[in-house]
Amino acid sequence: MRSVEALETIYRPWLLRVTRRLARGEELRTNLAQILEQFYNALIQAVETGDPAWLDPILNEWVKAYTETEISSHELSLLAILGQLHLTTLDVAREILTEADALSLLSLAAPAFVYAFQTAARLEMERTIERISWDLEKANASLQRLDKSKSNFISVAAHELKTPLTLIEGYAAMLRDQLPASAEFEQARIILKGVNNGTRRLREIIDDMIDVSLIDNQLLSLNFQPVWINRLIDLLHKDLARSLEERQQILEIYPFDGWAEMTFGDSERLYQAFRNVLLNSIKYTPDGGKISISGRQLPGFVEIIIADTGIGIDPEDHLRIFDKFGNLGDVSLHSSGKTKYKGGGPGLGLSITKGIIEAHGGSIWVESPGYDEIKCPGSTFHILLPLRKTPPDDRTAKLFAPLYDTENFSGGSG
Ligand code: ADP
Repeated sequence: MRSVEALETIYRPWLLRVTRRLARGEELRTNLAQILEQFYNALIQAVETGDPAWLDPILNEWVKAYTETEISSHELSLLAILGQLHLTTLDVAREILTEADALSLLSLAAPAFVYAFQTAARLEMERTIERISWDLEKANASLQRLDKSKSNFISVAAHELKTPLTLIEGYAAMLRDQLPASAEFEQARIILKGVNNGTRRLREIIDDMIDVSLIDNQLLSLNFQPVWINRLIDLLHKDLARSLEERQQILEIYPFDGWAEMTFGDSERLYQAFRNVLLNSIKYTPDGGKISISGRQLPGFVEIIIADTGIGIDPEDHLRIFDKFGNLGDVSLHSSGKTKYKGGGPGLGLSITKGIIEAHGGSIWVESPGYDEIKCPGSTFHILLPLRKTPPDDRTAKLFAPLYDTENFSGGSG
């Protein structure tokens, strides 16, 4: 018997058995019978022509018919259904046909079933991937919306806080000016100094919030001018001398090739960036610890390395600390001081630093074996800055042309 004839012979019992196995209820069986008839016709064509691609349309249709719930709950069942169809074909052929006819039919139908399994697996996988990418896109869009509203909130809050703060600062200054210099007002002067410290710290936080929203919205504008890294570091050393002394820490500076080179950059912003990293080094290093600044010159770049002997940072947090509010410490330990040991802040410093360095075309990263308050493995921050020998824009070029044209435009040994 020809294989196609054999397939036609077993069709009725095959259909009866498959519908019983796959669907409960008369209505379901009638629907299923129509679909199975399409499959069977395609199978006959595939066997007759030797081209299993005849099965493509029906398989495609089945995979397309999955509901969203089936896909998201991973209840894809086409492979299982094909398994049942294959099994039933084997059973029915063995029962109804002669052994020789059954064998010849099954060996001719086998490639069509193998093809159907492979195609169904591929189509189901594609459908799942499509669904996952769509979910990811949706999640990404809602994260972006969330980040945008966080950024808007920071910006609005910062500007709203600035007005009353200016009022407090103004009245405190008036009070200070009007206080007689006599000894009986000493207590009032101490209280006013406290108010002053508080408002200064509050202004720093508000300024940080404004900087973060500028960076978030790509509005940070840089005032390019000639900068010497060694001079910035010298200034910082002087600025932080008191904090270092209070914490009995030593700051060692190792001059390196290229550190006295002139580069175009925003000196104020770069100073702020280096200061944030150094303040953290002081803050997260125990009393008596050591901090060092070294670096190296690379083709077109200078790398500044700030290392400390502090509590260190776990590798899984090496990227997170550069996110806004990426502070890892206990919120209850937040301190109004900028250099108190482990006195966590709002977690804006490093995100601003990263924004500033990246706006200069550079990058920043940290290396640390891990977080350990007992062993203090330390952290090493690397800042890579491009050495810009020429001004980045016409305005800067005009302003500084007489300067950078001269030969001896060097920062000296520092
Ligand atoms: P914060 O205001 O909390 O200091 P930063 O953005 O400056 O915020 O730093 C983010 C977090 O990174 C800190 O809360 C701290 O956990 C960690 N961190 C930063 N610098 C260091 C360092 N030198 N050693 C250990 N941890 C650090």
